[in-house]
Amino acid sequence: MSKPSTARQFQIKYLVVSKAPDYVALDPQHSAVPAIPAVISVQDLVHRYEGRTALNGVSFDVRHAELFGLLGPNGSGKTTMFRILSTLMVAGGGRAVIMGFDAAKEPDALRRQIGVVFQAQSIDLKLTAAENLWHQGHLYGLRGTTLKSRIAEMLARVGLSDRAKEKAETFSGGMQRRLELAKGLLHHPAVLLLDEPTTGLDPGARRDLWQYLQILRDEERVTVIVTTHLMEEAERCDRLAILNEGKLVALGTPAELKREIGGDVILLDTRDAESMAERARRPGPSRAGKWSSLHYRRGRSFSRRD
Ligand code: ADP
Repeated sequence: MSKPSTARQFQIKYLVVSKAPDYVALDPQHSAVPAIPAVISVQDLVHRYEGRTALNGVSFDVRHAELFGLLGPNGSGKTTMFRILSTLMVAGGGRAVIMGFDAAKEPDALRRQIGVVFQAQSIDLKLTAAENLWHQGHLYGLRGTTLKSRIAEMLARVGLSDRAKEKAETFSGGMQRRLELAKGLLHHPAVLLLDEPTTGLDPGARRDLWQYLQILRDEERVTVIVTTHLMEEAERCDRLAILNEGKLVALGTPAELKREIGGDVILLDTRDAESMAERARRPGPSRAGKWSSLHYRRGRSFSRRD
């Protein structure tokens, strides 16, 4: 990130750089999450698109009823990982196993274990909420009263019972996302995969969705894996895998990662580096011309007061 400033005294650009080492290995004995068998096991996954490496030997496990985040900047390989786990694509190398089923060798059996919420909308806006779920149920072989009661149950769970007979096109973005969720969960999957599920949602709808994911984990014991590039969402996960340029650069709970990675590093690009360095060395909140403070622990809080 590099932003030009409009300061009169000197031009200044700042850049916040992560101090993440190549790989943060965490001692499982000191992990906050107890060791229980993996529901998802990713082993040395590799994928290349026409010469471009998207995943470069990624390995991690996801445990039962864990809310697990895949975090990383654009181009880090999150979507590629998501496509492989949801059996849309076969990995070039390595293995992905969910509930004991190999994504490359047993995709049909694996698909029965997972619910998937894609970034792109999959509900039909011209159909009512109930009709959308009815069609989804048929795809999974559900019929008659079993399907009817399952639809009612799911609509109640995502807070859409009173809108069951209304077309999805009349719903807000948050309601449409909740309907997507209901669709993904209709067949009682053990694992729910969500690709950047809060894209386009307002803060209230984002909060609701995350609360619902936590309820799913705590009450239904569903294992949830979610991709995001937002730190505030990542902090809500039990554990995180951080990808960068196709590599796993960190794995652990948000608290563990914060401890290991530490604060941000701020690189200041200024015409008067010496004077800036001198001012930055002064203890406590410093005043330097128009600049009111310099914080080092969290580079994002670096600010200028006009
Ligand atoms: P993310 O979801 O984290 O943004 P992606 O998995 O989409 O990352 O992309 C990882 C890398 O693979 C990027 O360099 C991207 O340009 C490349 N890539 C993704 N999809 C394709 C594709 N269909 N063809 C060629 N390269 C691709």
